[in-house]
Amino acid sequence: MGRRPNYHKEYQELNKEKIKEYGKQYRLKNKEKILEQQGKYRKENRDKVNEYYRNYTKQNKKHISKRNRERDYDIKKQLINEMGGKCVCCGLTSWWILTLDHIKPVKKQRRGQYRTFILKLLNNPNMRKDFQVMCYGCNNSKNIGDKCLIH
Ligand SMILES: [Zn+2]
Ligand SMILES: [Zn+2]
Repeated sequence: MGRRPNYHKEYQELNKEKIKEYGKQYRLKNKEKILEQQGKYRKENRDKVNEYYRNYTKQNKKHISKRNRERDYDIKKQLINEMGGKCVCCGLTSWWILTLDHIKPVKKQRRGQYRTFILKLLNNPNMRKDFQVMCYGCNNSKNIGDKCLIH
């Protein structure tokens, strides 16, 4: 079977600029119309829209936060398991009291959200070398001096 050239792709490739320009012109020309339609809908249905969101959040509040919490636990558990699964100091293995310790003491650093930080480590194994798994007890103790004072 011979290979047929992909005309559609070729056309798009050849007319890339033209297509881009066309889309831009269209949005520009219809900007007001698009905005007006969106605004009109929201205005006419403001109560309905508000009510919908209010109800949704209310009904699912417990569910949403539980789901988020479980998802956060899952990613933390996974990361801690991949990084040894126990406190490097005392050997504790209960993941819910394990945390990630920056091996070299760092000055106050903005880590952003804890969840984002965990995800970053999960996706970039080469970033993990600066961290070790530690339990909160050892970690807190270490933060006072430069090594765990309990063990
Ligand atoms: Zn420990
Ligand atoms: Zn310790």
